[in-house]
Amino acid sequence: MQTAEVVIIGGGIVGSSIAYHLTEAGCKGVLVIERETAQGKGSTGKSMGGVRAQFSTTLSIQMSLYSIPFYASFDERLGYPADYRPQGYMFCATSEKQLAYVRANYQKQVELGLKNVRLIKADEIRSMYPQLRSDDIVGGSFCSTDGFVDPYSAMIGFMSWAADHGGTLWKHTEVTAIQHDSRGVSGVTTTRGVLATRKVVNAAGPWAAEVGNLAGVTLPIEPLRRMLVPTEPFDQFPHSAPMIIDMSNGFHFRPEALGFLLAWNDPEETTGYKMDFEPSFIEKILIRAADRVPIFENLAVNPKRAWAGLYEMTPDHHPILGEAPELPGFYLANGFSGHGVMHAPATGKILSDLILTGETDLIDVSLLGLNRFAEGRIIEETAVL
Ligand SMILES: Cc1cc2nc3c(=O)[nH]c(=O)nc-3n(C[C@H](O)[C@H](O)[C@H](O)COP(=O)(O)OP(=O)(O)OC[C@H]3O[C@@H](n4cnc5c(N)ncnc54)[C@H](O)[C@@H]3O)c2cc1C
Repeated sequence: MQTAEVVIIGGGIVGSSIAYHLTEAGCKGVLVIERETAQGKGSTGKSMGGVRAQFSTTLSIQMSLYSIPFYASFDERLGYPADYRPQGYMFCATSEKQLAYVRANYQKQVELGLKNVRLIKADEIRSMYPQLRSDDIVGGSFCSTDGFVDPYSAMIGFMSWAADHGGTLWKHTEVTAIQHDSRGVSGVTTTRGVLATRKVVNAAGPWAAEVGNLAGVTLPIEPLRRMLVPTEPFDQFPHSAPMIIDMSNGFHFRPEALGFLLAWNDPEETTGYKMDFEPSFIEKILIRAADRVPIFENLAVNPKRAWAGLYEMTPDHHPILGEAPELPGFYLANGFSGHGVMHAPATGKILSDLILTGETDLIDVSLLGLNRFAEGRIIEETAVL
């Protein structure tokens, strides 16, 4: 029977980062199993590629404090590109309540060591981007090291580096069962046959709960559709702009190629494996776009270029990280709730530390264990876009 030191189920950006970090730490025999014929067909290939440290909880901020400098040095470290563009994230508050929230987050971010974040006044926002309708903007925050990466390139870079250094990727192979004995995980059954292993990582993105079920572990993770609308080329707004967030309704946008990429979380969306783009979304998002940026009335959109993907939501919008409490050897790296690209580097490091040494000093990982839900220890991340 074939064996592997560690089997990672899912070859998206999270599985690939874990493979990289394990291999880089000296682990021999890392095997990533991906059921699609190519990587990136899950959430990673659908992502907006935003990376930010402007969060509301210590855990999210700490994960970004590892991940963003990692992306800044990715090309040099790995010899593959991640296309990190530090153009920033700018939150625009439209009420005193939102401004107080932004200030409290800013305080926490600075206390934790984030250097490039600052509060900005409404007048500064107006002078930087006079194209924004700013009559209701009361202030905001800006962090210059936030920005964008190319998620597909980063995923390929992580996996290629791991493969160059002894790791293995099996594509077009599905994990269909997970075996265990009295010591914990003992192997996996795949469409290529059975493998013996004592360590299995669930990195199955929006399908994490299904993979959990294969091991008899119930995960509170639900897929939630998010849609993105790229515009045709548009030169009446600067392409050096950051991700700009209208806090009145969550509409946000960033430059993409010669146009812009528009995003908005439709509060009427319901959970489920809905992967199709809904054409009526275009009108909804263009109304919000033109409301905040009046010249966006002139935007042209080709509905065929718009797409939908799945967030993997947990009840508290934090991931579930670490060994499953009831199944030794079954590790979870799931439920990123829209932040899996930006937190992939930290996740890879945390999981590699836990698998190889049983502990990590990157975060207090006990706070993100699966048992927090049963024990009522959830900590909510509210800065979700
Ligand atoms: C529209 C949209 C915009 C987003 N924007 C951002 C953003 O700006 N910033 C950010 O950080 N995050 C963003 N996200 C979230 C981010 O894309 C995800 O959190 C991240 O890609 C999750 O990566 P993953 O590797 O866990 O999952 P995936 O990329 O989904 O990979 C999981 C893989 O597991 C495979 N798999 C599943 N079951 C099995 C099995 N049984 N056997 C073998 N293989 C299996 C799947 O085929 C898949 O390839 C966005 C998501 C969407 C949908």
